[in-house]
Amino acid sequence: MIKDSVIPMATFTCTRCGKCCISLGRHIRLERSLSPTSHSCRVQVTGELLPVQVHPEYRALYLSRAPPSFDSSWCPFLRRSEGGAFVCTIYSSRPGICRTFRCCTMRVIDGGGIEAGKVKGRRDLQTDDPRLREIWSREILPLGGLPDAEFREKAVHKLGEHGYRLMIME
Ligand code: SF4
Ligand code: SF4
Repeated sequence: MIKDSVIPMATFTCTRCGKCCISLGRHIRLERSLSPTSHSCRVQVTGELLPVQVHPEYRALYLSRAPPSFDSSWCPFLRRSEGGAFVCTIYSSRPGICRTFRCCTMRVIDGGGIEAGKVKGRRDLQTDDPRLREIWSREILPLGGLPDAEFREKAVHKLGEHGYRLMIME
């Protein structure tokens, strides 16, 4: 039996893929501008109103409001850098909802150390890997009713047999 303490746990880290910030865009509003880089921001789902400041490092990027660095459907503070990475230009003063947001409870890493899939809750696997999708449907979904520790143990073990590593996000 695998003890809970040796089940791979990892602190959630944001890979800055930008997906949540793109979809959160419709809930975050720039309500009032105090200067070109200092604003009041409204989070529509919670009603939170807070002051936000663009980080000096991202000032030029923030002020460029043309594609491909900006799209009007995104969060108004999200930009895409020249290298293609997404950047929250108000990261230090971002809303509480952004600080606590976790896009997944588990990550699946393939044999090459690359993230092959993300899981929300216990069931909702997001992956472009058809083999992983098939294994998940056949061997992991039926475990969904087990208590937490047992689910983790079995899921880690079963995916391990197929060369995948399951990381549980803390
Ligand atoms: S929280 Fe998740 S979805 Fe959002 S940018 Fe980070 S890794 Fe991507
Ligand atoms: S404020 Fe920043 S972290 Fe929050 S949705 Fe916008 S870009 Fe993402």
